[in-house]
Amino acid sequence: MPNEISRRDFLYVTAGAGGLLGAAGTPALELDASQIPASGTPEVPAGWFDRPMRWVQLTLVENDPGRFDAAFWLDYFRRLHADAATLSAGGIVAYYPTDVPLHHRSTWLGATDPFGELVKGCRAMQMNVVARTDPHAVRDEVRQAHPDWISVNRTGEALRHWANRELWVTCALGPYNFEFMDQVHREIVTRYKVDGIFANRWAPQGGDCYCLHCQKNFKAATGLELPRTSDPRDPGRRQYLEWRTARLIELWKRWDATVQAANPEARYIPNGPPSMKSAGELAAIQFTDNQARRGLTPPWNNGRRAKELRSVMGRRPIGGIFSVGVEEPYRWKDSVQSEPEIQLWVAEGTANGMRPWVTKFSGVLYDRRWLPVVERIYEWHYRHESYLRNESPVAAIGLLYSEQTGRYHPGVATGDRTEDHVLGMYHALIEARMPFELVHEAFLTPDRLDRFKVVVLADAAALSNAQCEAIRRYVERGGSVVATFASSLYDEWGQQRKDFGLADVFGVSFAGRIEGPMQNSYLNLDSDPSTKKHHQVLRGLEDAPRIINGVFRVEVRPTQEFPSPVTLVPSYPDLPMEDVYPRVPRTQTRELYLREVGRGRVAYIPWDIDRTFWEVLSPDHGKLLRNVLTWAMSQEPAPVEVDGRGAMDVTVWRQRNSMTVHLVNLTNPMMMKGPLREIIPIGPLTVRVRVANGLRATKVKLLTAGTSAAPQEAGGVITTTVPTVDVHEVIAIDLEPARR
Ligand SMILES: [Zn+2]
Repeated sequence: MPNEISRRDFLYVTAGAGGLLGAAGTPALELDASQIPASGTPEVPAGWFDRPMRWVQLTLVENDPGRFDAAFWLDYFRRLHADAATLSAGGIVAYYPTDVPLHHRSTWLGATDPFGELVKGCRAMQMNVVARTDPHAVRDEVRQAHPDWISVNRTGEALRHWANRELWVTCALGPYNFEFMDQVHREIVTRYKVDGIFANRWAPQGGDCYCLHCQKNFKAATGLELPRTSDPRDPGRRQYLEWRTARLIELWKRWDATVQAANPEARYIPNGPPSMKSAGELAAIQFTDNQARRGLTPPWNNGRRAKELRSVMGRRPIGGIFSVGVEEPYRWKDSVQSEPEIQLWVAEGTANGMRPWVTKFSGVLYDRRWLPVVERIYEWHYRHESYLRNESPVAAIGLLYSEQTGRYHPGVATGDRTEDHVLGMYHALIEARMPFELVHEAFLTPDRLDRFKVVVLADAAALSNAQCEAIRRYVERGGSVVATFASSLYDEWGQQRKDFGLADVFGVSFAGRIEGPMQNSYLNLDSDPSTKKHHQVLRGLEDAPRIINGVFRVEVRPTQEFPSPVTLVPSYPDLPMEDVYPRVPRTQTRELYLREVGRGRVAYIPWDIDRTFWEVLSPDHGKLLRNVLTWAMSQEPAPVEVDGRGAMDVTVWRQRNSMTVHLVNLTNPMMMKGPLREIIPIGPLTVRVRVANGLRATKVKLLTAGTSAAPQEAGGVITTTVPTVDVHEVIAIDLEPARR
């Protein structure tokens, strides 16, 4: 690593300015890498954004004015110790006496101003207030006055709202947003001096828009007609997607300028940025709108959204919007989930660095069971706030987050989806209890990459030459890479290359064929023929002569010498049973390529181990992935190790004067499909935490259990026992500079 600072010191010797640095005679500590702004991204912005730790959102429905009890809600916000609120203001319905023509005042508004009343009440409690607008639909009177504001479908018809046929869907990219909503935002911020505008569903809704403005503006920008295909590899479609993103960024900037002109402290906050890269470049604060589980979804999905956002936001504040209801496609917006389900979902967000933001539709309540549940969660959060004000995550593994692969690479064949590779790798990392972060493709700068000992490419298929070069340089600086399947075999637009962009890093070349889906194929696991010993990557698999293969494999040619711990057993018939015997029981074809490069290590796995893991969840594949990741860590010590039974998400954080280890208990029969019925406690767990060089622990606390202990420290490692974890336990370690 650069400047002879070992990566370990770089990672662990962390102290925020004004924290431990203040004491006289203490060693000069390196800045934590996450506090170094990546080029092109602002640091934590000045202003109010980093202050609120707990958010609330109340989304009024049109007949709330005059019926809902504002005093009840304000009192509830107080009991939650909420320090910021997002409140319905305008857009589809105005909840204040607007003067903007065609801005529909709630039919029940009368002479009242429910938005203003709530703003006043929140201000009296020193809360920050963000006004919520929703521009995606309008009434018929608006369509009659401005037919060109309405979205038009592919067959040229104005688009009715899919859920309420009396409404029309607006064009997000034309004058309705750029002019009308701009006026609405100006009025709200000017009149109420709110801290920001949060617009829901502000991007195109209900499919592509073919209105006159979109036709004209797209043509002016590209010279092209609007595309009729949804194939992202079609050049016209690609230009459309890029244009749509650019147009939304322009809208973001327009609204932001309007908001700031009315109140310099305020910002426009999109619900969902046009791209993660744009959030990294423009946002002071961002939120994930991932309100609850739906369908088959592991609880860690909420933590994943936090990691995605952090991959572009760095140290800037991020929040996790959660609802208390059932979020299935049938949209029971007034429903209530079980307490364990809500607890676990929020715990995953908190453990992964998101601040909680509870959202509730309708000021009138039909089912009040969630109220004490959220109060308990927020009370816990408030009590332990100082340990939740994170400065930086501690993780040695960075999983590449490639938006362009998701957008432009549809997979190599039917049944292959790049998302499934990422999900499988994510799940393997969770099972391995290895703390990790995501690294966004747009910010592959040395300061971001060098925080990690290992960068993982889980079928990061679409990578530009510059991105490949950034990864190549990272390896040259001593970083390790674990890559799977079609990583770098395509350029950033999804066009296949003749060879991997990272062929030299992997030590293999593409042999021209991708096989699959394969039936009944296996992998031979072998000890080294000279030493008779099993390679480290086969730990725990010593008794397995062979394991199942994946479903797809990229044929490659090695361009150098490699060990052969894992080799191919080609597919053989799986029916009739009389025919089920290997035709070729043994080949020299490696299915795992391991090489050492300076102080780094590179593992390339040419088959879809991660995707198959997500589909089949074979423990053999989980072990192999864990071992390959451990091998790639080389001499790097793990930041934390947890012994004991159960599945859990383990994250590690630094605060100014402390560090924390979050343990979120995922062990449950409803782990992959909520809602949880009950909590199944785990424990006892033995946890070993590595403390940064130059620091020592003064106290160890278990925040949920409410106990504390003197630290048992040896060789910079604190060992502690956690007797039991229901949903979420936090080991909080107070730190001070070690005496020399
Ligand atoms: Zn349009």
